[in-house]
Amino acid sequence: MKRRTGQDRSITQTWRPATQAIRGGTARSEWGETSEALFLTSGYSYDRAEDAAARFAGEQAGMTYSRLQNPTVEMLEERIALLEGAEACRTMATGMAAMTAVLLCQLEQGDHVVAGRAAFGSCRWLADTLLPKFGIQTTIVDARDPQQFIDAVRPETKVFFFETPANPTMDVVDLRAVCAIARERGIRSVVDNAFATPALQRPMELGADVTAYSATKMMDGQGRVLAGAVCGSADFINNTLLPFTRNTGPTLSAFNAWVVLKGLETLDLRIRRQSQSSVKVGEFLEKRVPRILHPGLASHPQHALAMSQMEAAGPIFAFEVADRAQAHGLLNSLTLIDISNNIGDSRSLMTHPASTTHYGVAEEKRLEMGVTDGLLRLNVGLEDPRDLIDDLDQALSQVGL
Ligand SMILES: *Cc1c(COP(=O)(O)O)cnc(C)c1O
Repeated sequence: MKRRTGQDRSITQTWRPATQAIRGGTARSEWGETSEALFLTSGYSYDRAEDAAARFAGEQAGMTYSRLQNPTVEMLEERIALLEGAEACRTMATGMAAMTAVLLCQLEQGDHVVAGRAAFGSCRWLADTLLPKFGIQTTIVDARDPQQFIDAVRPETKVFFFETPANPTMDVVDLRAVCAIARERGIRSVVDNAFATPALQRPMELGADVTAYSATKMMDGQGRVLAGAVCGSADFINNTLLPFTRNTGPTLSAFNAWVVLKGLETLDLRIRRQSQSSVKVGEFLEKRVPRILHPGLASHPQHALAMSQMEAAGPIFAFEVADRAQAHGLLNSLTLIDISNNIGDSRSLMTHPASTTHYGVAEEKRLEMGVTDGLLRLNVGLEDPRDLIDDLDQALSQVGL
């Protein structure tokens, strides 16, 4: 395996993201294949016993076991690191494996975490249930207000953990302000950037220390595989995250890494087109539903902030109808858009968070997060937006909207 001539960081770093998404990280085998090779192997062989010993001792470059290294997985890690503008990246089997690893690898009993209130249901579970179980205290704040982070800090606070835009209410966190608050106090900021991806938002350039991804979403982009990733400094990835993941094993499979490599090739195109369509569909819905939460529309209270840190709004937004019955009725009337709780797919998908993604969150917490019984979340895909609007139009009429 050799990186193609010109694959050293001094050159690849100068490429623009759309180029990095296609060529970054490419390492070709002796066959010179143009598309990245898929290395479905769990182990590696050595010419001599001394080579095995040298590799285990870290004295010889090369791979030893696919829980630790795999050529296809490493291509993906280098590509994501380049897109993120990060020194290093480690991929994981799922987004939640990434979130769990990024927190547990750096926290211990007695530490304290400040986490955003609006969050992916399982991310809230980590903060509310898993961390406290190990003696790690968490304070949940309304992350739209940077002052709440300042007020929540204690001497033992180690991490700020939040997502922006947040699932599913599309709360926006002021990345510059909140990451600066963390930096000044020696706290590490960990940003779940799944909704925007580095194609639209690069938290590290705005002061974040670590970004974490569900690559299942926009990075794959076609609803095929589960994957996750964590990006950060080489020191954090190699000395804090890796000892945890090498031994606990939330490793991404080579096959899934290969699928995500292919997905990244079209990320820039897809996310920009889906963002445009999402604004068009949002503009239509805005006239028909009582409330819409779309960072790309001027009606979103944080529209200006969102547009100051994102290049486009992304494909996902939420809106509200009267109640659960009307929300379910609307879903059941759709003829093109699928009822599905996935996001980031090239297909348009709609879900009712209160009865699906946030089913496990206690009602009181769920309402406090803004996940009301009438809330619906829409992922706008790559279909012709006029067909999506037609489908919504007829479904809304059927439920009297
Ligand atoms: C989907 C998602 C996750 C979890 O990722 P999986 O790949 O499903 O494990 C975490 N955070 C956000 C914001 C998500 O959308």
